[in-house]
Amino acid sequence: MNEWQARAEALDAADSLRSVAATFELPDGTVYLDGNSLGALPKTVKPRMLEVIEQQWGQDLISSWNKHQWIDLAHSVGAKLAPLLGVKPTQVVACDSISVNLFKLLNSALAQRPERKIVLSAQNNFPTDLYVAQGVEQLLGSERCKLTSVAPDALHAHLTADVAVLMLTQVDFRSGALLDMQALTAQAHAHGTLVIWDLAHSAGVVPLQLNACDVDFAVGCGYKFLNGGPGAPAFMSVNERYLSNLNQPIQGWMGHAQPFEFATDYHPAPNIKQLLTGTPAILSLAAFDAALEVYRDIDVTDLRQKSLSLSCFYIELFDPYQSQHAETFAGFRLNARLADAERGSHVALEHDEAYPISQALIAHNVIIDFRAPNLIRFGFAPLYNSHQDVLTSLQTLHWLMQEEVYLEPVYQHRKSVT
Ligand SMILES: *Cc1c(COP(=O)(O)O)cnc(C)c1O
Repeated sequence: MNEWQARAEALDAADSLRSVAATFELPDGTVYLDGNSLGALPKTVKPRMLEVIEQQWGQDLISSWNKHQWIDLAHSVGAKLAPLLGVKPTQVVACDSISVNLFKLLNSALAQRPERKIVLSAQNNFPTDLYVAQGVEQLLGSERCKLTSVAPDALHAHLTADVAVLMLTQVDFRSGALLDMQALTAQAHAHGTLVIWDLAHSAGVVPLQLNACDVDFAVGCGYKFLNGGPGAPAFMSVNERYLSNLNQPIQGWMGHAQPFEFATDYHPAPNIKQLLTGTPAILSLAAFDAALEVYRDIDVTDLRQKSLSLSCFYIELFDPYQSQHAETFAGFRLNARLADAERGSHVALEHDEAYPISQALIAHNVIIDFRAPNLIRFGFAPLYNSHQDVLTSLQTLHWLMQEEVYLEPVYQHRKSVT
């Protein structure tokens, strides 16, 4: 047994969260390092879905809105998310997608700063966030909303008293860089600027204290590290000071104070409910709700520690791999060498042939993903990944580079989802 194998085994033996992996359905023989794109399936989900489909939908039909509290599900999921976010249950709700929710919150935030128009963001932000801001700019006109996206290191210089909203993603989906939420929120507030944080790659894996950081608004993703299932509803969290005055623009009956009065005029619910728009996706919410059971006895600070242990092990192995296998590994570069406190829960390798290499890895049961133009992302889900997974991913990578497996034509074809 070589020294790395021994080290992986020792790290796994010392892992206090090791048994949690058994609460997930994972295919045998597969190393799944893509929980940052689609979280694995918690075993709690299937029985819940069967119950919802067979009994609630199949037998109880429409009475389930009351009998099985379907009408409250967006809030029950919010309440389960609250401790992971460091907010009160009354501050969170689950619905729609990040894109739609960001549209709602960006309008709300701009309405709080009518004398300002600039929405400041980073060029490396997830594109949908920038697209939504561009859409708001188009809708309201650039006199009311002007997106300024700058290089990440220029954010500080652009943060002035002209900025209405600072809109940032906490963990960069390419590099994995983790921003300092507390410091950036405080800097924004010092200029009277509101903040919207996108927690897509941090919720469920990075300990969050939105209230302690006095965050104004946040959005996040249900289907990534939170394991809510494909297309799971996203969530929104709102600082209590705005709850009575949100002015969100996609007004619908589910956000009305009394939806079943069927009144002609819109009166928003005086609480987080006003962020809802239409009928909630009950099947998706039920899956998300069941998935969050996994977190009941788990402390996110322990998850963070394990996540760092996994990414540190990867980084620790990368250099010796590169020097020992100079020929096969020469073309790889770690996308960012980040200090622990500045790293989220994935690392990315750059390579000119990143796409075929990523396809060959997937074909050989190491599930990662490719991000254009040249990145292979290795995501570490501390709920179910092991240090052995980290080692296997590098061993497989080395093997397929050495054998030039990735040059086979079958791996060249670009699929529609990468
Ligand atoms: C995955 C992701 C999204 C996804 O947005 P949806 O509208 O829910 O599809 C948004 N922002 C970031 C930063 C992401 O990583």
